[in-house]
Amino acid sequence: MSDRYNVESFNLNHTRVVAPYVRVAEVKQLNGETITKFDLRFTQPNERFIPTDALHSLEHLMAEYIRNHSDNVIDLSPMGCRTGFYLIMHGEKTPTEAAKLLRKTLADVLEAREVPGCSPVHCGNYRDHDLDAAKLWARRFLTAGMEDLLKVFHEDDL
Ligand SMILES: [Zn+2]
Repeated sequence: MSDRYNVESFNLNHTRVVAPYVRVAEVKQLNGETITKFDLRFTQPNERFIPTDALHSLEHLMAEYIRNHSDNVIDLSPMGCRTGFYLIMHGEKTPTEAAKLLRKTLADVLEAREVPGCSPVHCGNYRDHDLDAAKLWARRFLTAGMEDLLKVFHEDDL
């Protein structure tokens, strides 16, 4: 029996990462097409997590706005542990490309006047939203420089 999990992130040592960061979780070939999955970590695992209403609003905002900046987005979804998001893109993409895309998207979030799709018609839990808190977490992420975002692990692990 293998000591590796099927799920890539279960094999990641969450005690050694430094958030915020952008990391390639997986590159997959499917019928000759390449798909890249990113781990967009907003908060330090097991130290801090995003409240559900803020996370939910961030999901709506980011999922909507990221598609204004790229045609290669397949999916953007929150992690169940509420410390970040997964981004799945068509093609082999780099963390730099994903981080630039994310920064443009979060800049849009800061300008938002409402949460897109926030109604009982468009959402499965439309009361569970907080635009102001979503902006706060977006701003926190944006304070990290590009170099910091691309640094995933503690320095002494490298
Ligand atoms: Zn929703």
